[in-house]
Amino acid sequence: MKLSQIPRLPLIEQPTPLEELKRLEIYLSRPNIYAKRDDCMPLGLGGNKIRSLEFWLGAALEKKANVLVVAGAPVSNQCRLAAAAAAKTGMKLLILHSSERPAKYEGNLLLNQLFGAEIHFIGPVDEEERGRIARESCAELERQGLHPYLIGDPTVGALGYFTGALELHDQVKARALPIRHVFLPGSMGTTEAGFLMGNAVLGNPFTVHLPSVEYNRHELEAKISAICEKSIAWSGLDCTVAQCMNSAVIYDNYLGDGYNVPTHASLEALRLAASLEGMVLENIYTSKTFACLIDLARRNSLPSNDGLCFIHTGGVPALFAQQGFIEEVF
Ligand SMILES: *Cc1c(COP(=O)(O)O)cnc(C)c1O
Repeated sequence: MKLSQIPRLPLIEQPTPLEELKRLEIYLSRPNIYAKRDDCMPLGLGGNKIRSLEFWLGAALEKKANVLVVAGAPVSNQCRLAAAAAAKTGMKLLILHSSERPAKYEGNLLLNQLFGAEIHFIGPVDEEERGRIARESCAELERQGLHPYLIGDPTVGALGYFTGALELHDQVKARALPIRHVFLPGSMGTTEAGFLMGNAVLGNPFTVHLPSVEYNRHELEAKISAICEKSIAWSGLDCTVAQCMNSAVIYDNYLGDGYNVPTHASLEALRLAASLEGMVLENIYTSKTFACLIDLARRNSLPSNDGLCFIHTGGVPALFAQQGFIEEVF
């Protein structure tokens, strides 16, 4: 199979903006710092899941699905962007939220409702149980004569940042920018694996820094390489898992006490991005990733001629359900 034969439903105009962070450069006394603004997309307030959704919805249409299903926590950006994409394409979407129904709807949950998704609360179950309930719901929809498509397969979703890497590379070449290092959150692995596959096919022009926001280094590495392996086998992309993993630098020293728990450095990064650049980060993914970039810049561990590029994966609406920690920023 060739990439051009893999079904894809375009959801936004690309490329997304690539900008220089000039006040941060002055603040850190280090030139060549950039941000690829995947938070700036015109659909559903944007974010990395839009790129994967182009391939998930492409697969759903190819399978003649007439109802989409997605599962996640109420703060999930994937659920929010699936709801926006469903609205824009006129598809029905069922969201299964792994929590009790909250007293008030805020952040992404508020948006999911506005986008018109059908929302069910399945109680505070873990990821495995949530997946089981999602598959069971699909089976139930089939018994009712519908054709459901379950959003989230990493093998398919990884192609989103395969094309994201090619897009960044095109921008870098066209503007002759010195970008050599890319920073992405290390989480479930779909985005990371996709970017590493794109980078590998290009001959690894970038070193890809992946500060974990969720798992330890070894777990994260295992997740990413497993997705690369399956996705390469499925898509027939011209690269190997070893080539992908060669350009990855995986960290877990920016994670602190875990997922969604801020660190001193992530709160500083949140404040610096906002106050120097007017760029809004959030608590779970982007502030820890930006903290990694700031830390490496301060240590002078990367030559100053080599440009750094923070990939802003979005998630900003989640900030409005994260106010609890904000006082600590100041
Ligand atoms: C989901 C998400 C990520 C992580 O993406 P994975 O592909 O699951 O690793 C990073 N940033 C934001 C804002 C997200 O919503």
